[in-house]
Amino acid sequence: MSFSDLGLHADLLRAVTAQGYTEPTPIQRQAIPVVLEGRDMLASAQTGTGKTAGFTLPMLQRLNDGKRPAKRQVRALVLTPTRELAAQVGESVATYGQHLSLRSHIIFGGVGQQPQIDALKAGLDVLIATPGRLLDLHQQGHVDLSVVEILVLDEADRMLDMGFIHDIKRLLRLMPKKRQNLLFSATFSNEIQTLAKQLLDNPAMIEVATRNATAEKIEQAIYRVDREKKRELLAHLIQQNGWFQVLVFTRTKHGANRLAEQLSKQDIPSMAIHGNKSQGARTRALTAFKGGDLQVLVATDIAARGLDINELPHVVNFDLPNVAEDYVHRIGRTGRAGSNGEAVSLVCVDEDALLGNIERLIKQTLPKHIEPGFEPDPTIKPEPIENGRRNQRQPSAKRKPEGQSANTGGERKRRARR
Ligand code: AMP
Repeated sequence: MSFSDLGLHADLLRAVTAQGYTEPTPIQRQAIPVVLEGRDMLASAQTGTGKTAGFTLPMLQRLNDGKRPAKRQVRALVLTPTRELAAQVGESVATYGQHLSLRSHIIFGGVGQQPQIDALKAGLDVLIATPGRLLDLHQQGHVDLSVVEILVLDEADRMLDMGFIHDIKRLLRLMPKKRQNLLFSATFSNEIQTLAKQLLDNPAMIEVATRNATAEKIEQAIYRVDREKKRELLAHLIQQNGWFQVLVFTRTKHGANRLAEQLSKQDIPSMAIHGNKSQGARTRALTAFKGGDLQVLVATDIAARGLDINELPHVVNFDLPNVAEDYVHRIGRTGRAGSNGEAVSLVCVDEDALLGNIERLIKQTLPKHIEPGFEPDPTIKPEPIENGRRNQRQPSAKRKPEGQSANTGGERKRRARR
């Protein structure tokens, strides 16, 4: 099947071909006809599946074909949980829509408001935004959502996790009742189902297999190691194997900062990316990493979610995630677009229960290795991971955005000894 079989216009096909895409991905095959029809949609698809083009292409076609208001006004709104994802969706809208006369702009916090206000004043067809800054600008009288025809909630589960539900509900009240709603979520928690019921009218349900649940293209390995030896083992593996472009996940922003500093001191150029970094610092780190100037990017889950880094050869879990699904998201950074990838997890005695949860979720027993010189000391007793009780996704109010209270005193103390 080709993109033209899906009913897309020549102007969009030209843009798609210029990207080098030869055929639609499974999510695109399913989503594009549904969105073109004008139906609501509930889609379970992760980053890396091509979901962005899956909703952007038909959305642009509908906007292009539909009746335009006399004055340019926001007709499509895409809400995302993070600035990085907003930037990436914005880039996709600009790329795929390059031959259409539609205008789009990205709005997120952490950068100056004025260029965003100017863009809104000049008139936009598509707005891609994070909820907080959008509401701020609305309260200042700069945003009119009264003719929105299409609303996309991208990574809705993550938006709820980050406590955005009230912001989303306030934004919904600013839009016309009759509109097309597209909801993307990697998981279907009770909260997502409640939101879907309130938001969607007779939605088409689309589910693409959790891309990495089978992980055919991803080699996964567990290295058993003592908690105090993880950093040394990581530096050893990177240097011995000549790994380049390594994305390393840590559980906390403190851990990310410390690890990036320590690796840099060992001549492994590294930077950390997380929610407390300025937008400028995050963009610089990402650009250096994508451009090949930075060997290691250390990230927390929320910062990394949605990062469009293609064909990343190595992902390392320096800490296992507390939520097993996050393991799948993390290793989804590698082995993308047909290339092979390697996902290595450094697991200490504290993390056995987390490892069990992950293996149950992915229905695989992962191969365990012990690196010579890094044999775990069998006398070391497990210590509790203080925030490990969050194995289950918590209601949004309890699950704080990263860097606010996810870290506990005990965890900090333990890490300080590393
Ligand atoms: P997404 O899941 O939307 O973040 O997309 C993941 C990556 O796949 C992005 O780098 C896209 O440029 C790329 N991509 C999207 N659609 C296709 C396609 N049909 N063929 C090849 N690559 C694609």
